[in-house]
Amino acid sequence: MAASDTDALPSLQNQERSILLSLKSISKTYVTGDVSVPVLHNVDLDILAGEFLVIVGPSGSGKSTLLNIVGGIDVSTTGDVFFQQQNLSEFSEQQLTRYRRENIGFVFQFYNLVPTLTARENVIVAADISADPMSPDDALELVGLADRANHFPAQLSGGEQQRVAIARALVKKPELLLCDEPTGALDLSTGRKILEVLGNLNRELGKTVVIITHNSAIGKMAQRVIRIGSGTIAETSINPQPIPANQVTW
Ligand code: ADP
Ligand code: MG
Repeated sequence: MAASDTDALPSLQNQERSILLSLKSISKTYVTGDVSVPVLHNVDLDILAGEFLVIVGPSGSGKSTLLNIVGGIDVSTTGDVFFQQQNLSEFSEQQLTRYRRENIGFVFQFYNLVPTLTARENVIVAADISADPMSPDDALELVGLADRANHFPAQLSGGEQQRVAIARALVKKPELLLCDEPTGALDLSTGRKILEVLGNLNRELGKTVVIITHNSAIGKMAQRVIRIGSGTIAETSINPQPIPANQVTW
């Protein structure tokens, strides 16, 4: 369990990275009526500031549950989540809302854009609820879509819609970008472009990026890969030389 995770940390910590978020003995059981579904079991995980982390595991292994707990949209049954030393488990609803707004950018498999709003307007919606957003046009520029700002989602390809979704996550200037199967609905070459955008945001803006995926090929571009199986961390590995996004293949 946790031992394999922390064993692999020193080489990243040598790059003087601080811990941004810590999961301490997180367990999650979904209870619906008489049915209990245990999903996560005593997960310990540190996410380091500025790292590019990929969490790989088969469908149903608890990846989305884990990411949603990290992002404050779900809560664990037991255990604690510390973000910059603050314990999320002790947050009020209002504090959790603020945490999600200010610190977390979510990217989902199916983009979740508002179909009746243009690309720019989709980004503005997120900027409007943020305390200190960047300009929506700058966010679109960062994902290479400045020239499509006035287009509606239906006028954009899947890859372009995903880039709008990344701009929407980014506009709030979050510490942490959490991506749930961000290439899951895309073909290889479009998927690579999305990975390239995420890689650039990590390298050039220093964003901490966490991707969860069933696709282990994506792990090759990560600095650190965590394998999750049956609700526990099965393995942690460090890539001494992550490959560029455009060489990832599946
Ligand atoms: P993954 O993202 O790795 O595919 P999930 O975290 O989505 O896995 O789901 C893990 C397990 O938890 C699955 O068996 C799923 O059916 C179950 N599960 C997820 N969400 C709920 C829920 N809200 N209520 C009951 N069971 C759930
Ligand atoms: Mg999932």
